[in-house]
Formats: sequence, C-alpha cells, structure tokens
Amino acid sequence: MSSDFSTGMKCRVCGKVYPKSAINFCVDDFGPLEVAYDYARIKPALTKAKLDKRPWNMWRYRELLPLDGEPTVGEHVGGTPLIRADRLADALGVERLWIKNDAVNFPTLSFKDRVVSVALSKAREFGMRTVGCASTGNLANSVAAQAASAGLETFILVPADLERTKILGTAVYGAKVIKLTGTYDEVNRVCTQIAMKYGWGFVNVNLRPFYAEGSKTMGFEIAEELGWRFPQHVVSPMAGGALIGKIHKAFTELHNIGFVETPVTTKMWGAQATGCNPISDCVKSGRERHKPVRKPNTICKSLAIGDPADGYFAAKLIRETGGWAEDATDAEIVEGMTLLARTEGVFAETAGGTTVAVAKKLIEAGRIPRDEEIVLCITGNGLKTQDAVFDALDIPESIAPTLAAFEDLAGLKAAEPALV
Ligand SMILES: *Cc1c(COP(=O)(O)O)cnc(C)c1O
Ligand SMILES: [Zn+2]
Repeated sequence: MSSDFSTGMKCRVCGKVYPKSAINFCVDDFGPLEVAYDYARIKPALTKAKLDKRPWNMWRYRELLPLDGEPTVGEHVGGTPLIRADRLADALGVERLWIKNDAVNFPTLSFKDRVVSVALSKAREFGMRTVGCASTGNLANSVAAQAASAGLETFILVPADLERTKILGTAVYGAKVIKLTGTYDEVNRVCTQIAMKYGWGFVNVNLRPFYAEGSKTMGFEIAEELGWRFPQHVVSPMAGGALIGKIHKAFTELHNIGFVETPVTTKMWGAQATGCNPISDCVKSGRERHKPVRKPNTICKSLAIGDPADGYFAAKLIRETGGWAEDATDAEIVEGMTLLARTEGVFAETAGGTTVAVAKKLIEAGRIPRDEEIVLCITGNGLKTQDAVFDALDIPESIAPTLAAFEDLAGLKAAEPALV
C-alpha cells in the first residue's frame, strides 16, 4: 500500500514543482525545495480514530511525511513528552509554560533523530547505500546511529573543534568521522561536492527537503499533547533555521486537515547564541536577509551555523507571525542550562540553555506576555555538552568518611551523640 500523499517538491522562490528526487534546490534560481502535499486526499485518509490506534511515535503522522512506503529507518523515533513546567514558569514570572523535551528522543537524545529517520528512510527508497552529513554534532550522532542500524555505509564530516563527546558519540557506531579544519559552512560545501560527484545521500544536503519534513513531527506532537490546539507562543532554537519554520508548517497542516479548527495564530520566537546570531541579528536589525557570520564563536556549537540555509525564511516567518528573535551570551546560556535543570530536572545541552535564556529575555522585555501559553522547544541532551556547565557547578572537595566531617561540610551543627 502506498502511503504517499506528497505531490512533489516545490521551489520556495518561484513555485516550480519537481518530482521527488535527491536534489535540494531549484535549477532556475537556486531556491530551496520543499515537499508539497495534497491535503484534500490526506483529510479522509488520516483521521483521529486511526491515529488513536497507532503507537506514540513520530510515524503516527506518516500521511504528512514524504515516504512512498513504510519507514525502514527510525521506526521508534519521536513521541517525546510535553511537560508542564510550573517551577520554571515561576522563575520566569509567567503563568502557563511547557517544555517539549526532545532531550530524551530515541536513539541519540536530540530532535535530529526525527529528521534523520525520514532522510534515511528516503535514501533507502532511492536505493542509496552510502549516506552522510555535515554536522555541528547532534546530526552526526543520529546519522551514525540510525545508519548503523540500517546497515548503510556512513561518512560524517564535522568541524574539527567539535565537542569530544559528540565525536565519540558518532565514532562509536562505526561511522567514518572526518574532521575538517574549517567552519560548518566550509564542511557543508565539501559535502555538497561529494554528494554531487558520488550520488551519495547527504541528509542535510541533497536529501534536505525530506530531512526538514521530519521536524514537523515536533509540531504535530505539541498540538496533540495540548489536546489538539496550538499554543500562543513557541520559542525554538535556530541553527539552519528549518525547525522553527517546520513547527509552524505542522500547525498549518493540522488546521488544513481539520484536526484543529481554529486557524494558526501562534507567534514564533527564535533563539540563537550571540556568538553566532545571523538570524536573530537579521530580525533585530530589520534587514530582509541575514549577514553570514564568518567565524562562529560560542559554546553552543549545535546552533553554530554562520550561513543558515533557511535563514531568510525563518526571519520572514518570525516577522509574519508577530514574534521576534533574540540571542544569548555564553554566560546566559550556562545560566539557562542550570535554571532548567534546577527547576524542572531536565538537563539540556547548550541549545536548550539558549532557548531558556532567550525566552527569559523576551519575557523580561515584555515581548512575550506573562499570562499567555508558551512552549519552549528543548532539542538536545546536556550529557553531550558537559564541559559547558562543569565550571559553573559547585562540586565540593572530598571529606573524611565520618559523620562529623559531613555535618561540618553540610553546615549542620554537630549534635549531641544519640543514645543507642
Ligand atoms: C540542529 C539543532 C537545532 C536547530 O535546527 P535547525 O533546523 O537547523 O534550525 C536545534 N537544536 C539542536 C540541539 C540541534 O542539534
Ligand atoms: Zn525556483
């Protein structure tokens, strides 16, 4: 049975439609291609009754994803919790706050598992045997893990200064990890050349239109977990700028197929690190197009893309929805990480700290109203970026194994010895 409801890939600049294949840009104007769907056909095919019988993972929305058949990679990805975050809400001075926790996504603890399962399932439909990616870390982990389970040969190209844990969490799956002495943008350029020359599937290059669609499932889940409605505000981290747009596209699609009757009025808010802020700078400065950041310099490496592929569209969407963008310094990012951990028991990576810090700034500036519903997208796990917070933690020296030493350290008054 074909579950394919997509009609092809449409250029986001001129609207020209291409059949689904391993290309990511329009040959006329180099505009990015995006998968288009026939919502009139999806509406009767995907009902809430049907959805209720499916497992709680991202493939429950498969009619809105661009595969011809069933998924063959990443069948268990998605289905992460949306957590009501009252203690963080108190700390930020807002009334209704949730966190969408993709720090616990399966199998590699970031939202990238969603995009990779679609891209690699598609690569297999195209008959590709060798896959890869250019990555700032999380994508490398996910491509390596999911390609290993699918038995695909894998080349991962990364900037050489990436965190040790992210290199380790890629090499362990047997992928060939290649460190390039350059920025992410330079790495990405080499991947484009390899993909074109050898016909391999690079998930965020020639498979990017399919990859990006996977991000929508985060939006589908948020709406379903809220009881089929949209929040008033979503704060999303931005690297290449795809996720923020796809969450909004997901909401629009749920409205198109009648799952949520009210039209989408959600305001989209974008978060970046100050050390690599092409999109937030674009929004704040009022420019139509972003100025690439040549040399990113931030502890938030997962968001450090100097020339974001979807930067133009992310800035445009943010403006159209009435949202805004901000960026956070390294110190603010660390504060965001510890605040989230201490209020909600969620250890997020630097991108999560960025999102929390930016939300705090936007609330304090009066841009996000304190009495409206806010969802923060937490996209990666703190265990992958431990070095970023280590120095900010107060870890005491060792003590002698005695009660007295414990009481001394804990600031407890040594009591009279108890009678036994
Ligand atoms: C890749 C990534 C993002 C941003 O994704 P884009 O779609 O490229 O904007 C956000 N958070 C984490 C942890 C990521 O790895
Ligand atoms: Zn075009």
